[in-house]
Amino acid sequence: MDEVEALLEELESGAVKLYALEQHTDPETAATVRRRFIESQADVDLGTVGSYTFPMADAAANIENAIGAVQVPVGVAGPFPLDGSVATGEYYLPLATTEGALVASINRGAAVIRSSGGATARIHSHGMTRAPAFVVDGVAEAEALRSWVTDPEQFERLKSAAEATTNHGELLDITPYVTGNTVYLRFEYDTKDAMGMNMATIATAAACKLIEAETTAEILSLSGNLETDKKPAAINALDGRGWTVTADVTIPEAEVKRQLGTTAEQVTTVNTKKNLLGSATAGSMGFNAHAANVIAASFLATGQDEAQVVEGAHVRTTVENRAGDLYAAVTVPSLEVGTVGGGTGLPTQREALSVTGLAGGGDPPGTNAAAFAELLAAGVLAGEVSLLSALATNELAAAHEQLGR
Ligand code: NAP
Repeated sequence: MDEVEALLEELESGAVKLYALEQHTDPETAATVRRRFIESQADVDLGTVGSYTFPMADAAANIENAIGAVQVPVGVAGPFPLDGSVATGEYYLPLATTEGALVASINRGAAVIRSSGGATARIHSHGMTRAPAFVVDGVAEAEALRSWVTDPEQFERLKSAAEATTNHGELLDITPYVTGNTVYLRFEYDTKDAMGMNMATIATAAACKLIEAETTAEILSLSGNLETDKKPAAINALDGRGWTVTADVTIPEAEVKRQLGTTAEQVTTVNTKKNLLGSATAGSMGFNAHAANVIAASFLATGQDEAQVVEGAHVRTTVENRAGDLYAAVTVPSLEVGTVGGGTGLPTQREALSVTGLAGGGDPPGTNAAAFAELLAAGVLAGEVSLLSALATNELAAAHEQLGR
């Protein structure tokens, strides 16, 4: 009996737990045995899920109970000529999606940006946050904790404790929020090229030990939801989380007509009625047409944390008719991306990220992730210009019928 059959028997008898197969064999064989077991339990064929090219050992830090891989088609949009704070030159953007017409739409926006001389992008701030919740006896102790934490001398001690856990992370700020006898401390870090959620969490845990040792406060939860991670939140839309980045372009009147088949006036009207008024009426926190499409597709392709598309979708799109030319801008307040760490090291994601020329650590650290954030903002801009124009000319349904079905 070969190893796979022997382990399958042990699984079926309960001698080995499904999640513990890696304790008995290598990651590849463990995934094969688990897949075979699930195939028989669910009476399905997982031949395609089981056909992947990367060593499962490379994904050990990214997945548990592995059975294989799901393949998402990847396309490319661009090039995007960029005049950024950091990104300068031309960049292609890989996009993984199952939505037909999406890459074509973003690519059309990229072509318009090219024939308009490129997009301008700027980073306004960068800070990954973690906000533990502390409990104290009452409001007097809450105020004492707030003022202890914001005392410059104590802040320096907390900074030293936090930064002892990382070579790259830097504690930038701690903002206290008091609700009765609960105090939320929003720690903010420069995490350089890493998205930084693990880095910020580990560093904050170290700082919390000091707070507990020196004050009457007790930590209730290392995350008190004021970060805010993976939930829509006004705090991120206003104060930012990850990269706060903007991009704009001015499209000459002739190009608006030639490539988009519309006018600046029509696009401005659609933007006002849809992205601004419609979103406000709905109580939406995203004042954009489909920013999440670009964010999600680029996140999947390049190994970002896909749940953080939630924060990425807090985009505000503004459009102006400038004497016939179309001025369009996107403000992306909370773009949580990295070019090292997390899923960016997985073989296919690393290859796709390499298409941008920004994979790995930057020199100096932080510059690759900053440039990547600017590229994504340009991608969002391209998507907004293209979709708003399609809506202005009633082309949307026709494009989906032609490309997406
Ligand atoms: P990470 O892979 O845990 O850490 C990044 C690593 O890259 C650190 O070890 C850092 O070393 C190193 N590094 C090397 N060169 C760097 C450079 N140029 N800039 C920055 N760091 C550099 O990733 P992370 O970004 O902190 O966290 C992302 C992961 O967290 C994702 O997998 C995500 O799904 C997960 N996540 C975790 C939580 C949580 O609560 N823990 C929540 C949401 C998501 P040094 O630290 O020594 O500098």
